[in-house]
Amino acid sequence: VEYTEGKGWHDAKITQYQPIPMYPSSMVFHYGQSVFEGLKAYKTVDGEVLLFRPDRNFARLNKSNERLVIPAIDEEFALEALKQLVSIDRDWVPNALGTSLYIRPFIIATEANLGVHPSKNYKFIIIMSPSGSYYKGGINPVKIMVEQQFVRAVKGGTGEAKTGGNYASALKGQEIAEKEGYAQTLWLDGKENKYVEEVGSMNIFFKINGTVITPELNGSILAGITRDSMIQVLKSKNVPVEERRISINEIVEASHNGTLEEVFGTGTAAVISPVGELKYLDEKLIINDGKIGEVSQMLYDTLTGIQNGTIEDTFGWTIKL
Ligand code: PMP
Repeated sequence: VEYTEGKGWHDAKITQYQPIPMYPSSMVFHYGQSVFEGLKAYKTVDGEVLLFRPDRNFARLNKSNERLVIPAIDEEFALEALKQLVSIDRDWVPNALGTSLYIRPFIIATEANLGVHPSKNYKFIIIMSPSGSYYKGGINPVKIMVEQQFVRAVKGGTGEAKTGGNYASALKGQEIAEKEGYAQTLWLDGKENKYVEEVGSMNIFFKINGTVITPELNGSILAGITRDSMIQVLKSKNVPVEERRISINEIVEASHNGTLEEVFGTGTAAVISPVGELKYLDEKLIINDGKIGEVSQMLYDTLTGIQNGTIEDTFGWTIKL
């Protein structure tokens, strides 16, 4: 779909995956005016195709648009377009357990202009690709490392938006973590370097003494759709859950006194990712003997069960095509 100033969004079409013509001076290349989403279509055990809370993705896309001064999209239109796109060929959605069709909606600023101002023209595109299971041979707890030198987002910045710049600023931390043998970075807040924010592509949860705690949405954390869904599942199962500020020191202390029971990340790609080791400064905290915990396993089973149709979706999250 194209956006032209004065005309709005127009000319929606479905085409083959192909290169798109862009001027070298297209604004997105220079000033990073871009937003995106990530969601999945799943095939149930009965062969039905379903989308998981796609309305939340388009609502979040519009929130990101607002922050990046990109014109809003019509959320209902986008959802209808997505349904049509996925419905072209149900075989695009793979069958095997844990696999899915990954869907990437995105908007880029296309005006050819080197002045720094919001673009007058945009493209809204949805691309899709079958994706394999995140876990090969069972769920493997990941090792993550607290980043000390760099921050991903600051108060008042773009941390809450799903925009390319946040991921660019996170690359350096990711490189450092990988060099040390860690899968992902755990980001602290950009002001005091004290409060936990999120992991590269997941929100983070800590189970301390029976209560599940996740950082509150403070404007610099992405409002993960999996995060929101898992909070609802926890509440429905009467597991105490808190959204609040949590400092890295509280987590280290809990680990020292034996009350840090589980750590896990949530995300569309990662589903529920148990964390087996957390590195902070020179210390390596081993969580639950490096194994998946009870609550993490319950959330994983519930979420994947709803997505593959083996557990009834009492939350009304799935849309069947
Ligand atoms: N935080 C960041 C920075 C992410 O990129 C993602 C993945 N979209 C998440 C959290 C998890 O969000 P969701 O559950 O909506 O996939």
